[in-house]
Amino acid sequence: TPLILWIRRDLRLADHPALAEAAATGRPVIPVFVLDEVVEGYGAAPKWRLGEGLAAHARALEGIGSRLILRRGPALPVLRALVAETGAGAVWWQRLYDPAAQARDTAVKAALKAEGVEARSFAGALLFEPWEVETGQGGFYKVYTPFWNAVKGRDPGLPAAPPKALRPPEAWPASDRLQDWALGAGMRRGAEVVAKHACVGEARALARLDAFLGTRVQDYRAARDFPGREATSGLSENLAWGEIGPRSIWQGGMRALHAGAAGAEHFLKELVWREFAAHLMQHSPELASRNWREGWDDFPWRGNSDAAERWRRGMTGEPFVDAAMREMYVTGTMHNRARMIAASYLTKHLMTDWRLGLAWFEDCLIDWDPASNAMGWQWVAGSGPDAAPYFRVFNPAGQADKFDPDRAYRDRWIAEGQARPPQTALDFFAACPEAWGLSPGQRYPAPVISLAEGRARALAAYAGHKS
Ligand code: FAD
Repeated sequence: TPLILWIRRDLRLADHPALAEAAATGRPVIPVFVLDEVVEGYGAAPKWRLGEGLAAHARALEGIGSRLILRRGPALPVLRALVAETGAGAVWWQRLYDPAAQARDTAVKAALKAEGVEARSFAGALLFEPWEVETGQGGFYKVYTPFWNAVKGRDPGLPAAPPKALRPPEAWPASDRLQDWALGAGMRRGAEVVAKHACVGEARALARLDAFLGTRVQDYRAARDFPGREATSGLSENLAWGEIGPRSIWQGGMRALHAGAAGAEHFLKELVWREFAAHLMQHSPELASRNWREGWDDFPWRGNSDAAERWRRGMTGEPFVDAAMREMYVTGTMHNRARMIAASYLTKHLMTDWRLGLAWFEDCLIDWDPASNAMGWQWVAGSGPDAAPYFRVFNPAGQADKFDPDRAYRDRWIAEGQARPPQTALDFFAACPEAWGLSPGQRYPAPVISLAEGRARALAAYAGHKS
C-alpha cells in the first residue's frame, strides 16, 4: 500500500532519514505538504520564503519521478482524507520541536494510530534529539558550554543519501496549485526586493556550504563578528526550511577540521547553538512566550511605542541599529552581531518587551527559526537561560567602532548623507511600505534617545526591579 510522506520544514532529498527509508521500502510514496493551522500562523516573510522553497522542492521531487501534492486545511482531516483517497497505510514525517508543531503532530499521531494507520515520526532536523542529551543528573542543559562539551565528541552519523528514484502511486491524488495559495500576500514590502537576496532550494544550499568550506571557513572565527564582511555561511536560511540537513553540514565541517581549516571548529560550535536552542525549547516550550528566568515577569518592560515603531522602520537615529533593521527588511536576514545590537537597543535603551522584537523578527526573517529566535531574544534581554546579564548594555556606537570600523555595513544600508548611496541602501526605500513615507533624500533622523540616557534609564529600572 502507498505511504504518505508528510513534508514540512524539510524541503530536501539528501540527509532525510524518513525519505530514505520510505524509498527503500519500494512502496509507492506520496509526498504531501499541508498548508495547515500551524503554517497559516507564520509571519509574512517566512510564509513567502516557504512558497519559494516549496516550488524548488516540487521540481526536485519531479526529478526523481515523484511529485509534491499540496493540500490546505487543518492537518488531521486533510491527512485523513488523503489516506482514504489513496488507500495509504502509513503517514511518515520528520519531527519538529516547537510547541505549535508538536501539539499538532501529537494529535495527528494519536488519531491516525487509533484509525489503524501507521503514523511514524523520524529524527532528521537535528544532529541529536533534544532528549538524547542529558546532564549527569538526567536533566536538560541550561548553559551552552556544557551542552557543547556533551555533544562535541559524539558521532551524529552520516547524512542519508538522496534517493535516485521514488516510486509513484498508480494514480496521483489531486493537488492545489501553489500560486493559488498566494503565500507572499502578507509581504507589505516588495517581495521582489527580498527575492534578489534569497538562496532557494537544496542544490543552492549545498553549493553554499561548499563555497563556504572552500574559502571563508579559514577566517571564520575572527571575521564572523564583522557584519560588513561576508564571512559567515548564510546557511540559516536553508536550515530554517530544511533545504539542507545538519548532518551534511556537520560532516562538511568535520572534513574541513581534519584538513586543518582554522575556523572549522568554531563553525561546528555555532551549528550546535542551533541544537541548543531546540534542546531548550523542547524542555521549556514557553521559551518564545514567557520570561524564562524567574523574577522577570514584573520587570517594567514597555509596550508598543513610537520609539519601538521607529526601531522597526530602521529610523532610530542610531546608525548601527538602523543598518541592522534595514538589512533585515531588504534581505530577510540579519548578521548575528547586528541581531544582538538591534535586540539590545530595543530591550535596553528603549526598555521594550523582548516579545515585541521577537514578533517583528518572526514577521521579517526568511531564516525564522522558532527556537533560535526565542533563545536569541531572551539571551539579549537577560531573561533567558545562559543569558547576558541585563546590566551588560551593548553600546551600539562602541560596537560600530569595533565591528564596523570602516563603516562598510552602515554605508551599505543607510543612504542618507551619502552622495552616491549603494543600491542596497536605496533598495530599503523600495522595500518599505509606502505608508512609512520614507525616501532616500530625507534627512537621517536625530536619535530617539541619547545612548547615555537610555543606558541610565535601563540600569535604574533594573536596579529598582532587583530591590
Ligand atoms: P553562521 O555563522 O554561518 O553559522 C552556521 C549556523 O550555525 C547558522 O546557520 C545557524 O544555524 C547556527 N547558528 C549560528 N549562530 C547561532 C545562534 N546564535 N543561535 C542559534 N544558531 C546559530 N537564527 C536563526 O536561524 N533563525 C532565527 O530566527 C534567529 N533569530 C535570532 C534572533 C536574535 C535576537 C539573535 C541574537 C540571534 C538569532 N539567530 C537566529 C541566530 C543567528 O543570528 C543566526 O543563526 C545567524 O546570524 C545565521 O547566519 P549564518 O547562517 O551565516 O550563520
